[in-house]
Amino acid sequence: MREIPWGELFGSVDRRREPAPAAPHSHGAGGLTRLNYGIKHAMRSRPPALFALSLSMLLAPACVDTSVPEITLDFGDGRTAGPPCSPTELEFFPPEELRMHIIDVGQGDAIWIQTPYYENELLESRNILIDAGPSGNVPGTSPGGGIVVAYMLTHGLVVGDVLHALVITHAHEDHYGGAATIASTFEIERYVDPGFTADSQGFLSVRSAAESDVRRLGGDIGVPAVGSLVPRLYAATDLFGEYVEAQLLWAAVTPPSGNVSSPSGTDINNTSVAFALRWGLNQVLLLGDLEKEVEAALVAAHDANEISLASRVLKVAHHGSSSSSTLGFLARVFPPPESDQNWAVISSGRRSFNGVTLPTDETIRNLKEVLLEGHILSTENDDTLKSSGTEHDDDHILVRLRADGRVDACYGF
Ligand SMILES: [Zn+2]
Repeated sequence: MREIPWGELFGSVDRRREPAPAAPHSHGAGGLTRLNYGIKHAMRSRPPALFALSLSMLLAPACVDTSVPEITLDFGDGRTAGPPCSPTELEFFPPEELRMHIIDVGQGDAIWIQTPYYENELLESRNILIDAGPSGNVPGTSPGGGIVVAYMLTHGLVVGDVLHALVITHAHEDHYGGAATIASTFEIERYVDPGFTADSQGFLSVRSAAESDVRRLGGDIGVPAVGSLVPRLYAATDLFGEYVEAQLLWAAVTPPSGNVSSPSGTDINNTSVAFALRWGLNQVLLLGDLEKEVEAALVAAHDANEISLASRVLKVAHHGSSSSSTLGFLARVFPPPESDQNWAVISSGRRSFNGVTLPTDETIRNLKEVLLEGHILSTENDDTLKSSGTEHDDDHILVRLRADGRVDACYGF
């Protein structure tokens, strides 16, 4: 818990870059004009000068009432305390920056990547969504798809915009549940999943909703990921556009255990699509719900110089569960010395699994071994104070890989 005066919150506005009016339009250049957007294209409209308006309100000195008492922003119970985003960081997407939003869907994952754009180049930022959060149909869970859509519409997209890729990491409801809502709001150009369905009818139905969007656009379907998206594990993929190097670290069309007919939760988690993204000198790891068996395989590949796990940002696997994030794995991801450039981000919520809520103390302890204080951020931040089903939508996390090489993360709203 920390108190922040209004002046400190708004003071950061003065340090802003020259703002882009919003996230750059996600279509137009880059060949997408070829595509037939269908009915939703006609619906597309951008609210007039929304961002410019909000900035002018922030900048007008007369609008800041210095008599307003200090407000309290809640940064967590200490385990996952972290810095708040300034209004500028949230509202403006400057050129030459890779942004990653860990949207607070409660228990689940939904990670929106905005790739960098360059003012003097034709190519624009790409929007890639890794997982869609839960459907909300499971008692005590959040309406993930609705939260994801609302967040993306608030932060620069409009209904009918192209989502350059939707990746569903694996066949669990807390990852695919919101996908139908995503497909009915945006136009999905590419769709990727590992290829293992676990015979889940729910998964099959959201996959077919996403795939029909893709077919209408004439886009690509990367199912199974190994074989359709890339020829083999560790190969490079163009999924994140021209400027971001991306490597498929993992995706399994059958669980590594071989248990196809009656897969356990662990078996399904261990099929997750996982990526390493590199932009500039910095790497981000996106691990889905991979567990320690696959982490061990990645450690072996790292030690054999087939891949590099050393990163600035780790999307912690499996919502901070003790099934993952072993010390041996984390030591490769964040080799010493500890750096204020290194961050771990966790997507989890209040939902209890056999009396355990995530992230576990063990995972937080392991992360604290390799990261500085204030560098472990979680969408579960302070959710222990809330009742089940109300944990979502208040602890979003924004990660910025900046043009000058700095890497920052903060809590947004
Ligand atoms: Zn999950």
